[in-house]
Amino acid sequence: MSTDALITIARRPNTVFTHGQGTWLTDEAGKRHLDLVQGWAVNSLGHSPALITQALLRQSQRLLNPSPAYFNRPLLDLAERLAALSCFDRVFLASSGVEANEGAVKLARRWGSRHRGGAHEVIGFEQGFHGRTLAMMSASGKPGWDRLYAPMPQGFPKARLNDIASVERALSADTVAVMIEFVQGEAGVVVADGGFVRELRALTAERGVLLIADEVQTGIGRCGTAFAYEQFGIEPDVMTLAKGLGGGVPISALLCKEALNCFEPGDQGGTFAGNPLMAAVGLAVVNEVCHADFLAGVRERAVQLSESLQAIVRDHGLVEERGLGLLRALVLPADLAHDVVTAAQALEPAGLLLNAPRPHLLRLMPALNISAAEMGEGLALLRRALRAVLG
Ligand code: PLP
Repeated sequence: MSTDALITIARRPNTVFTHGQGTWLTDEAGKRHLDLVQGWAVNSLGHSPALITQALLRQSQRLLNPSPAYFNRPLLDLAERLAALSCFDRVFLASSGVEANEGAVKLARRWGSRHRGGAHEVIGFEQGFHGRTLAMMSASGKPGWDRLYAPMPQGFPKARLNDIASVERALSADTVAVMIEFVQGEAGVVVADGGFVRELRALTAERGVLLIADEVQTGIGRCGTAFAYEQFGIEPDVMTLAKGLGGGVPISALLCKEALNCFEPGDQGGTFAGNPLMAAVGLAVVNEVCHADFLAGVRERAVQLSESLQAIVRDHGLVEERGLGLLRALVLPADLAHDVVTAAQALEPAGLLLNAPRPHLLRLMPALNISAAEMGEGLALLRRALRAVLG
């Protein structure tokens, strides 16, 4: 297999995937793989669901992109739906998570320049992940990222998750916002404490500092509610969504309260911002997922996954399982996650696709509509892969 025409960006298995349906992906050799990665928590309804292919077909025959200089119906409908579902009033649509997060920081800085005497710093968290533009690499707390492409954009001090004193220390007259993932995904599915999130909300409100929730990974049903913030009993001022919002296609959203609607025309935009093709898919996904019955199903599957992972922890002598909803991690006793990923994909006759964001940890992100039987099948494959590596 020649990969010579590609710029090298990652180590990838020597497999070319050709098609997918629901929880299964098939490669060029015809081998099937049960997929617990799902495009990194992107395919909320699994691979190529009819709901999305039909929305794409319908919208592509009507209107692809009139440009952001004009309104289009799916843009208006999706914005209205997201505002109705959430505690926010205003929506900007973009294409990727990092673009929505950049927009959130721009919005906060614009608001800071108008209402907070030029306050511009955005406090992030150690080990946090907000995407791969230069500014969002600065906002992230991934070790080494401050040097990878130096010099980096400034103005992103760090605090520690679940340590309110560290946030207080990082606050200054220049602070305009704190940006948080309620579940740090790339860090290894580290869930914020409820008490900490409520203290953070109180502290930021008291100091006139915005709270930006990066729900790129946790939003749109992934954690068992439409948005993870609902489970912490607080309302952020700004929220970003991506991944699951498109169910596999590139769309993201920046949401804010009315008081923060402070961009002047021309301050923010993008050629593909709010294009009707992706907005039509986003609307179809939101209407399917952000529905009480569907979300109850996600929570049921999450209990099944969590209980089964707890049994695996006991049987295989692992450290722990953790997570929120269908965003979960299995912590191994040593740096063997890559070996487990490789062994899982090599299983016969069907493979298992897993993600290892850290050397000692597997992250599980099944489709939100995975059936109980498919989940059981995936867990049985996981046990086989663990046995192959751990004995
Ligand atoms: N924020 C969080 C919490 C993420 O998990 C990710 C991607 O993994 C991003 C932002 C970046 O999103 P994207 O890759 O769509 O730019």
